[in-house]
Amino acid sequence: MIYTIAIDGHSSTGKSTYAKSLAKDLGWTHIDTGAMYRAITLYGLINFNKGHSINEKKVIAALKNIHLKFIYNPITDTNDIYVNDENFEPKIRDLKVSESVSTIAKIPEVRSFLVEKQRELGKSESIVMDGRDIGTVVFPNADLKFFITASIDIRAQRRYLELKNKSSIITYEEVKENLIKRDYIDEHRILSPLKRAEDAYLIDNTFLDKEQTYHKIKQIVIS
Ligand code: C5P
Repeated sequence: MIYTIAIDGHSSTGKSTYAKSLAKDLGWTHIDTGAMYRAITLYGLINFNKGHSINEKKVIAALKNIHLKFIYNPITDTNDIYVNDENFEPKIRDLKVSESVSTIAKIPEVRSFLVEKQRELGKSESIVMDGRDIGTVVFPNADLKFFITASIDIRAQRRYLELKNKSSIITYEEVKENLIKRDYIDEHRILSPLKRAEDAYLIDNTFLDKEQTYHKIKQIVIS
């Protein structure tokens, strides 16, 4: 049997961390769809940057030449994302990418290109896939669905601490502003807006730490 678990929710709620742990515990594959949108965005920033934005038409035209794949990295214990055989993982979480990703993610051609790839990845093996539209659009018949959220302040704080370790130039305000902006674009786009699937378990981890949140998820999975 092939099983699918969908974990959707807001940015910086730890979705990918929980999806990765769950996949590991179950012996399944973890797929971080945010990494796929980020990789296309970074590709656009590198190749089609026009001042402060990315030339969207050129990104659409280039999709047919973009080959995405995940390769396991034993050093970091992550599934790194590659674009045309180049490892994009080290740079996809930079603020520059975060600032443009939601704009790129609302382009219909980009969404259909990635949704098709995501469905393909879930065809041959059991997966835990995290993102924004997995339970609503990519796998509406997923065996189990979660929607994770938390207050904007706690999410900004978590993200800020994460990024601060990598770059000292970032401020808490910049991080919070980016999250608010991304939430807004993700929730208001016409095509597959971010929303909870009706049959998804809602988990608000504002007052839960990582262990408590994961425990909650795991209890539901094994029940
Ligand atoms: O999960 P992460 O924060 O890395 O996702 C980055 C962005 O990619 C989101 O803010 C959203 O705009 C987009 N995204 C999406 N659909 C998904 C996954 C991510 O639109 N399934």
